[in-house]
Amino acid sequence: MADTKGLVVVTGAGGFIGGALLSSLRERGFRLRGVDVKPLDDWYQRLDDVENLSLDLNLKQNCELAVRGSTDIYNLAANMGGMGFIEHNKALCMLSVLINTHMLQAALDSGATRFFYSSSACVYNGDKQKTFVAPSLKEEDAYPALAEDGYGWEKLFSERMCRHFREDFGLYTRVARFHNVYGPWGTWYGGREKAPAAICRKVIEARLSGRHEIEIWGTGNQTRSFMFIDDCIKGIELIMDSEILQPINLGSSEAVTINQLVDLAESFAGIRLKRNYDLSAPKGVNGRNSDNTLIQKYLHWEPDTSLRAGLEKTYRWIYDQYQARERGEPGVVREVASGH
Ligand code: NAD
Repeated sequence: MADTKGLVVVTGAGGFIGGALLSSLRERGFRLRGVDVKPLDDWYQRLDDVENLSLDLNLKQNCELAVRGSTDIYNLAANMGGMGFIEHNKALCMLSVLINTHMLQAALDSGATRFFYSSSACVYNGDKQKTFVAPSLKEEDAYPALAEDGYGWEKLFSERMCRHFREDFGLYTRVARFHNVYGPWGTWYGGREKAPAAICRKVIEARLSGRHEIEIWGTGNQTRSFMFIDDCIKGIELIMDSEILQPINLGSSEAVTINQLVDLAESFAGIRLKRNYDLSAPKGVNGRNSDNTLIQKYLHWEPDTSLRAGLEKTYRWIYDQYQARERGEPGVVREVASGH
């Protein structure tokens, strides 16, 4: 079990999932250090009563600073984004291998007790994701390896490094493969946002501008499952505390098409839009869902927030952010001072 007396480090703490994890661990009474390459002013959630460091974790000496004196490490830092970003930035995505390599070495050298690594459903073999009827991917479907080019290969390699640091050096490592995470306090514009946030933003734009049209990447028949951020955080904490040694799916098993995602966002806005399909845009694999047999077996739990409930919260949050931005306010940063 986690030790609330030890120091817990979260990397990628200025981002979406890292920010939410830091916030949750803070509620649970941990002593915390958040680390991210972004300047502190750009962190999505900044908790002013925990130690926050702005460091580039591509560099080994910065990883050593980041983990100094820690017991638990959650390594979520990665240079990543939605399909549009990972398809056009394969080298940048692969360079995150520097973060994971140096973080593992620093964790081992510093005597940290436990290490969590956030992998991705992008490790799965592309040949198993060709049909639009979303195949439920089991953990074993990552092999034979044919991961998403760039981003997915880096994740698969880093997963294996976690495994071998455990087997060869005795470092406690746990690895989860996240399937499309969404929710408030995430990226919703700028090119790195993922489908749920992008679609909410486009529907909001259409509603506020009165131009009732939407551009959809691909045919809209691609299937995916989407996990609400609260489920992701609960899963990370459970997996870190578990005896699950192999990389495990952490995702919702409620698969929908991109068109159904648009239907939902339209229902929150109370409008119907003319859909324009951009067949040349990055669209990823045709179908993907999370097979949750293994997580059910180990944890007797799986992510269970319905897409409707989670997406509605996300839509409302993006709506407020959108309007704040229109008024010229910074919007996205959430500051929590001591004593909140
Ligand atoms: P995010 O982009 O919001 O957060 C990642 C953070 O890492 C960013 O704040 C970024 O500044 C930081 N970072 C990048 N390079 C760094 C460096 N050199 N040094 C220090 N910090 C650096 O992304 P997220 O959605 O919060 O994702 C967190 C983790 O979960 C990532 O490892 C990602 O690959 C993984 N993941 C996310 C999803 C998803 O749907 N969001 C799906 C699968 C896997």
